[in-house]
Amino acid sequence: MTDSPPHHIAIAGAGLLGRLLAWHLLKANCKVSLFEAGSLIADTPQTARAAAFTAAGMIAPLSEAVVSDAGIYRMGQYALQQWPAWLGKLRSPLFFQRGSLVVAHAQDLSELEQFARELQFVLPQCNSYQRVNQQQIQELEPDLNPHFLQGLFLAEEGHIHNRELLQLLHDEIIVMGASVREYTPVNVSRYKVSTENSEENFDLVIDCRGLGAKIQNAKLRGVRGETLYVETKEIQLQRPVRLMHPRYQLYIVPKPKHRFIIGATQIESEDRSPITLQSSLELSSALYTLSPAFAEARIIEMDSNLRPAFMDNLPRVDVQDGLIMANGLFRHGYLLAPAIVDNILAHIFNKPDIVFRELLNRP
Ligand SMILES: Cc1cc2nc3c(=O)[nH]c(=O)nc-3n(C[C@H](O)[C@H](O)[C@H](O)COP(=O)(O)OP(=O)(O)OC[C@H]3O[C@@H](n4cnc5c(N)ncnc54)[C@H](O)[C@@H]3O)c2cc1C
Repeated sequence: MTDSPPHHIAIAGAGLLGRLLAWHLLKANCKVSLFEAGSLIADTPQTARAAAFTAAGMIAPLSEAVVSDAGIYRMGQYALQQWPAWLGKLRSPLFFQRGSLVVAHAQDLSELEQFARELQFVLPQCNSYQRVNQQQIQELEPDLNPHFLQGLFLAEEGHIHNRELLQLLHDEIIVMGASVREYTPVNVSRYKVSTENSEENFDLVIDCRGLGAKIQNAKLRGVRGETLYVETKEIQLQRPVRLMHPRYQLYIVPKPKHRFIIGATQIESEDRSPITLQSSLELSSALYTLSPAFAEARIIEMDSNLRPAFMDNLPRVDVQDGLIMANGLFRHGYLLAPAIVDNILAHIFNKPDIVFRELLNRP
């Protein structure tokens, strides 16, 4: 980057990273042009929308460290500080840090043990999780099925109302005067954004197209995830709950308006077609075992989407003159976004190195 910060910045992709960067750059008095291939509004039907809309919004450094590495844990801890600092002044809270609960049915307790062993292996010094018994599980989540005998409480984990966040960022970006172009798929190069029939020059281009960048980066792959949204007033949960199972690990995350999102682990496939009957049955029957009160829940939405990932499932920020590319957030987008956004802002404004530079700027 040059000594004077760039004035007019183009951002390709208005998913999670694109919106957050636009918001921060506008607050730093940059001129921002945001290009989005689809619609900026979540409810608009479209073939491919941002993974950020499909996501469950868990910020779970401990649970994610089990399937990745200690670097993801460190960036997750950073996220747990930054999200409240970024969103703390909002009237309706979007970020919560009430921990998360991991449970297993009696016949699957070995899965819970395995999870605890993996956590201990990846984070040997970490003591921010505790074993909980039947009574403690009921105290934490009184509406859960009382037959869960053992669990783990991961006290430091958080969650975010992600769709409301994306809407809020959209509104703020418009009010702050960004030039926003929906339904405009672009290609990017140094200092340049190309649409189907035009080219524009900028002081800097930031590529946040998620899996849409695959057209220019063959190392990216999509990892499918499927979710259900249900609505019921019969049950309340304070925090995300994970259900360990030999075939799938279900997560359920409370959302506004008595809604819950339910999902399971990832599928190695770039198939964007709707959720399968088998997945919907597995998700809904596992949900029912968490609490029979879910029997009367209404299914509001079934969704599927692809997480943008590199082969090692770790994120990258690639910095060149006139072009920054950030991608590969995989299943940790909300967990990694604060570290990645602050890393990019540090590059742009020539701020001192931050601790994540060596973790993010890998070849
Ligand atoms: C089922 C599921 C559950 C998840 N749950 C969680 C979770 O609980 N916690 C967590 O931290 N993460 C979770 N994630 C991961 C998270 O959603 C992603 O890591 C994150 O959204 C990636 O952010 P991004 O900005 O890189 O990409 P995206 O959010 O996908 O945004 C990319 C944007 O670029 C646009 N675009 C694409 N091509 C072009 C083009 N040519 N021109 C212009 N625009 C373009 C797209 O339309 C899109 O709007 C989940 C993902 C899925 C699918």
